Amino acid sequence: MGVSRAAELRPVALRLSVNCSGCGRTVALAGPLRAVRCPACDHQVVTPASVWLELLGLADRESFAAPPAAGVQRHEVQTPAGRFKLELTFVAPCCDPCALPLGLLETGATGKASCARCAATLYSQPAPLWLRHELATAMQIYAPSIESADGATRAVDGRFWVIFQGTPPSLREKRNERLQAEAQERAAISNRLLAEGPAPVVGPGGPMFPIGVVPEKPPNRTWLVALILVVLVGLMALKLMQDSREDDVFGAPKKGLFR
Ligand SMILES: [Zn+2]
Ligand SMILES: [Zn+2]
Repeated sequence: MGVSRAAELRPVALRLSVNCSGCGRTVALAGPLRAVRCPACDHQVVTPASVWLELLGLADRESFAAPPAAGVQRHEVQTPAGRFKLELTFVAPCCDPCALPLGLLETGATGKASCARCAATLYSQPAPLWLRHELATAMQIYAPSIESADGATRAVDGRFWVIFQGTPPSLREKRNERLQAEAQERAAISNRLLAEGPAPVVGPGGPMFPIGVVPEKPPNRTWLVALILVVLVGLMALKLMQDSREDDVFGAPKKGLFR
């Protein structure tokens, strides 16, 4: 995964719903809202921060896949706060009725993004601190409703967007673990080299040498091999001569070279 991928803004459209714990009907969550009132029974549907982290962490990781999946990705996530239905689409904020892209705000700004054709409006604000504290990649939210201080926001149907940026924390942890393991392995190799002295060590990719040590060439032993051959041939010749002298010249079978 390149550096550029982590620098890119990754908009994710989310459609999220859970069954009301009061009447059992489907309640839409159109934003990272920790408490909404069920439109049918007025029951307060609470989604704890830990559940939001699980759901949005999933969206973060899925959006980091390159290239992000086309079309709608559907998930069902069982949590302590109920079974959530989550639809992810990797598209920039747009007006749902017209499908027109909305003019986006600067990351960190608060304001409205309105459709150029119809009256549809999304509220844009930086990701809330309780979310960013654990999921620092969540940058900006575009949602049809914003959370009220008393948690009395009435649930509205619709998609909301989270703009992510940076490597997802769970992937970063995995990468750090891998880098740490590699560093330990390298340290173990250099410790072994120090213990063994400057002799070359054959690694998986061929001979490895400690930095700064010029590999010694093995001494040329061709002359030694030639000398041994000459001596061997000489000895054999001597043996042949001895054998032919010992043989009975008249009639006795000749002994072989290899008796
Ligand atoms: Zn209800
Ligand atoms: Zn519109």
